[in-house]
Amino acid sequence: MSAPGAARAPEPTPPAPVLEVERLRVTFPVRRGVLGRRVGTLVAVDDVSFALRPGRTLGLVGESGCGKSTLGRAILRLCEAESGRVAVDGVDVRALTGERLRRARRKMQMIFQDPYASLDPRRTVLDCVAEPLTVHGLAPSRRAALPAVTRLLERVGLEASHLGRYPHELSGGQRQRVGIARALALEPLLIVADEPVSALDMSIRAQIVNLLVELQRELGLAYLFIAHDLALVRYVSHEVAVMYLGRVVEHAPVRALFARPFHPYTHALLASAPVPDPDAERGRRRLVLAGEPPSPLEPPTGCAFHPRCPHAEARCAEERPELRTVGDGHRAACHLEAPRAWPASAEGA
Ligand code: SF4
Repeated sequence: MSAPGAARAPEPTPPAPVLEVERLRVTFPVRRGVLGRRVGTLVAVDDVSFALRPGRTLGLVGESGCGKSTLGRAILRLCEAESGRVAVDGVDVRALTGERLRRARRKMQMIFQDPYASLDPRRTVLDCVAEPLTVHGLAPSRRAALPAVTRLLERVGLEASHLGRYPHELSGGQRQRVGIARALALEPLLIVADEPVSALDMSIRAQIVNLLVELQRELGLAYLFIAHDLALVRYVSHEVAVMYLGRVVEHAPVRALFARPFHPYTHALLASAPVPDPDAERGRRRLVLAGEPPSPLEPPTGCAFHPRCPHAEARCAEERPELRTVGDGHRAACHLEAPRAWPASAEGA
């Protein structure tokens, strides 16, 4: 212990964020009729901001259709945002075009949910993993890429004997390993993993998740990990953002979010997730979240969660709550002064 008054060693400066997202908004036109007349606008992602540092994982959770996959795709410029800023390694990628955008894409890669759909069935493993290297000029030919591809396969737990196989000759887990090798080929800083194990058998999921965790430790990768399996998100993430109808309603370090959720929607998500222990599951009161999520075409006024929230007050239907600090590194968008338990009447058996 240092003596009172002794000079303290300065705190190490945290590394600069790999990814900075500021007030991102993604909309899609809604068209009807044979002429495709525009009849409205769907707001898929609204006013989302966060930063992600190297070696960290941000888990992104929420019901289907809440905008989490669209957010991941907009960050990678697989769909265009309407407004906001996305900086990868300090470079505003929304401002880039042509060759500069292509170069920036090397730093950010995606791992898809369905490895079978993301691999070309007519191309061998060597072709699939060599392609990014040849396209980005890191290898002049497929043959020249062979040593690098072999190393990548070894790194993801495959062997040189897999090089000549086609996707249909591989198991689901092996196909996802090929997808990961392909994502790693360009030595990215950021990986967006969109439900990367939900299409796999339960027995394979843990292997792929552990592989991703190991690769992060070795390579210092930053992950945006999109998933609906809360136990999985809890295992892989350093922090978690909860999305509801296109907006982040809670963002916290993983322990704080699971131990002390603030937003009533986060309470509902956590309380509705199954527990793997059958005894614990039997003795638990499950929370049933009433009603379907509202349509993003006609979002509710004020707090979008108010039609389903047991704590809603008059103010909630009129005033949209902004994200505010409710704890150390913990932010929530709710008018409540403190988190409240859901009333027993809202809980199932
Ligand atoms: Fe519920 Fe109101 Fe908080 Fe929205 S702002 S989550 S309606 S208490």
